Amino acid sequence: MEPASDSDLSVPLRKTGRPSQLALFPIEEERVISETKESIPPYWKEVTEREWNDWRWQLRHRITTLDQLKEIIQLTPEEIEGIKHSKGRLALAVTPYFVSLMDPVNPNCPIRRQAIPRVEELHLSKSDMVDPCGEDKDSPVPGLVHRYPDRVLLLITDQCAVYCRYCTRRRLVGSTERSITQGNFEEVLKYLRKNRKVRDVLLSGGDPLLLENERLEEILSRLRAIPHLELLRIGTRVPVSLPQRITPGLVKMLKKFHPLMMSIHFTHPKEITDAVRRACNDLADGGIPLGSQTVLLKGINDKAPIMKKLVHELLKIRVRPYYIYQCDLAMGTEHFRTSVATGIQIIEKLRGHTTGYAIPTFVVDAPGGGGKIPVEPNYLVSREKGKMVFRNYEGKLYEYPEPNIIEFRKPKTGREEKVSTKKVMIHP
Ligand code: SF4
Repeated sequence: MEPASDSDLSVPLRKTGRPSQLALFPIEEERVISETKESIPPYWKEVTEREWNDWRWQLRHRITTLDQLKEIIQLTPEEIEGIKHSKGRLALAVTPYFVSLMDPVNPNCPIRRQAIPRVEELHLSKSDMVDPCGEDKDSPVPGLVHRYPDRVLLLITDQCAVYCRYCTRRRLVGSTERSITQGNFEEVLKYLRKNRKVRDVLLSGGDPLLLENERLEEILSRLRAIPHLELLRIGTRVPVSLPQRITPGLVKMLKKFHPLMMSIHFTHPKEITDAVRRACNDLADGGIPLGSQTVLLKGINDKAPIMKKLVHELLKIRVRPYYIYQCDLAMGTEHFRTSVATGIQIIEKLRGHTTGYAIPTFVVDAPGGGGKIPVEPNYLVSREKGKMVFRNYEGKLYEYPEPNIIEFRKPKTGREEKVSTKKVMIHP
């Protein structure tokens, strides 16, 4: 089956009823009930449970206009203005499921802030960049970014279930809502076959999980057929924004491509619903190691208790907190950015205060294309010859005496062995 095409997605959005195209898809086999009728918001009261839990229905009925959203959410003037100007920047598109998580009366709801455009997006700061991570200049063939020696980023679609207002790839996503062309994919394969140092491919976009299983399987199979590609990874937000997509059929298909890992984009503990728990558990049961990626966002998750709650909830659903990103310098996103110090303080309040498995690495993706740079609180207080002084998570100081004598044992031919000692200076 071909990937979702423009015509698939241009079915008129309707509040109720079933688009006739649904009959074309084998939804019975794929369907996973994750939410019951009672949990479906009143706006969709005529929608059946079966439709609500069908990812294609969710995708076709994404909220994309001001008029639709006004019927569900009490929009503020800032949001109305933002939506009116979002076309041609980063379009509004939110799955009914993700809308159902929004607080209809509180504009500071973290789900709402992430997905509904606001007037602040029209403000461009001096530091804003079209391509903040310098991906385009590191792209040897369309759709591929090759920055680090042993791994590449493969952008296989520009479509997402929900467009995040802080998206670093807003220059690309949502423009055509199509997957990589066959011609470009063949170019990518040719490049990867030639570059034998590449051992790891991260599939991203857009969201790779919006491709139909058959198309995604074809892409993964062609990559797996290249012997030096050891690891395949998928970067996705779908388990959070469209958990209905994680079907038994998808998991069964992905299992064929181990070792395959998944990085899931989480932002706030409110995103961890029963549907998301079910989706992550199914992926983990499929043997897929799951890690989280979280963008640090002002007014959404920039407080230590919120981040702590998020990382704890993630571990409970078998997702290992992996990265917290300093918000990139994408156009019109200054209102989302915190200081770098905010991220360091959050790590400070996690390290030692909770299990190490719960602590992600805080990174700044260097503007212009320097890659991810880890940033940590400073635990090394001083460094002298033969002595390091550290502070622990409570601020207490501890000395670690460094060795400056190394003993060598030279094996002797006879029964006797003699120990020779040599002084080796360790430079501070
Ligand atoms: S899911 Fe990722 S690529 Fe898509 S809009 Fe959000 S941040 Fe951008």
